[in-house]
Amino acid sequence: MSEFYRSTICKSRTIRRCESCNKIIEAGTQHEYVATKYDGDFGTFRRHLDCLEYERHLNDINGMRGEEYSWLHEHVSEGGKSVLHDAPAAVKLRFGVEP
Ligand SMILES: [Zn+2]
Repeated sequence: MSEFYRSTICKSRTIRRCESCNKIIEAGTQHEYVATKYDGDFGTFRRHLDCLEYERHLNDINGMRGEEYSWLHEHVSEGGKSVLHDAPAAVKLRFGVEP
């Protein structure tokens, strides 16, 4: 159960990894930073803003909320790259799909 969830938009001075696509977030790129406590464990993760937006879209249209919420890379590994057909060009490119 989630006991704590704080989302902020920030820039990093160093390279980070996006939890949604598992690719690099370049230094200086605006992205989401999340600090959370879930089942007693404190954790953090980061996401590209366009990955986050498209990930939420896929979860919304599939009625996946709470415990069912899935990362963008999980949608792609389960549904194939065709789930990216409405995704922004930058998101497609991170998964090796030509926009
Ligand atoms: Zn990403």
